[in-house]
Amino acid sequence: MNTVSLLRPAATNPATRPELTDALRATVDAKAAAALTLLRDAVAEFGHDGELAFANSFGAEDMVLTDLILTHRLPIEIFSLDTGRLPAETYTLIGEVEQRYDTKLKVYFPDASAVENFVRSHGINAFYDSVELRKACCGVRKMEPLRRALAGKKAWITGLRAAQSVTRTGVALREFDQANGLEKLNPLADWSEAEVWAYIRRHDVPYNALHDQFYPSIGCAPCTRAIALGEDVRAGRWWWEDPASKECGLHVRKG
Ligand code: SF4
Repeated sequence: MNTVSLLRPAATNPATRPELTDALRATVDAKAAAALTLLRDAVAEFGHDGELAFANSFGAEDMVLTDLILTHRLPIEIFSLDTGRLPAETYTLIGEVEQRYDTKLKVYFPDASAVENFVRSHGINAFYDSVELRKACCGVRKMEPLRRALAGKKAWITGLRAAQSVTRTGVALREFDQANGLEKLNPLADWSEAEVWAYIRRHDVPYNALHDQFYPSIGCAPCTRAIALGEDVRAGRWWWEDPASKECGLHVRKG
């Protein structure tokens, strides 16, 4: 018996291999050029004194931005959050990125005492018990490290796309992030999933192996599952919750 096939679906997700038609190639090239212009403009506006940073969570969109920033040697700080609960495939990808682009990534970890206290009080998998405990876990493992990563920054860059979920339909190329008090740039806001994957294929960009196994959106291992064909791309994140509550706090709008 093939036990691996019982754990995860076969690697046949068609979404990661769109047909590279001439029209799709042209659209992706144009959008990549526009994203590069936005990034260069951001460097001109915020790139001095370490005031601009890209939050890289190693999803497909973030790999497009990683490739644009590192291939074009843009002076943009790249940081990541290691919650301590990431899937093994994400750590493999981090190693691939460091090797491919000959770089060392800046990784922020949660405060060890805060994690210890949370686990002692609520249990190792408390996020399944309530939305409040899930958000508290995200607060300890993601939000507090994010606040440290963004300290002193005037703008940050994300791979958010408007078409990703009901919680992201209003995402703009540029917006003021009231929750964190700084500008937020989303160069791929108007990209489709097919355009993201067309860029990855055209430029042979490394990506998380889970994407081929029907994981379009990847976060912590216990809070991410594969989706069925036709499901929303964020359906595999905190799948036991109502879709309207499914953000970890990193990208919540105030007001
Ligand atoms: S995604 Fe899950 S494991 Fe990760 S920080 Fe949030 S609740 Fe905790």
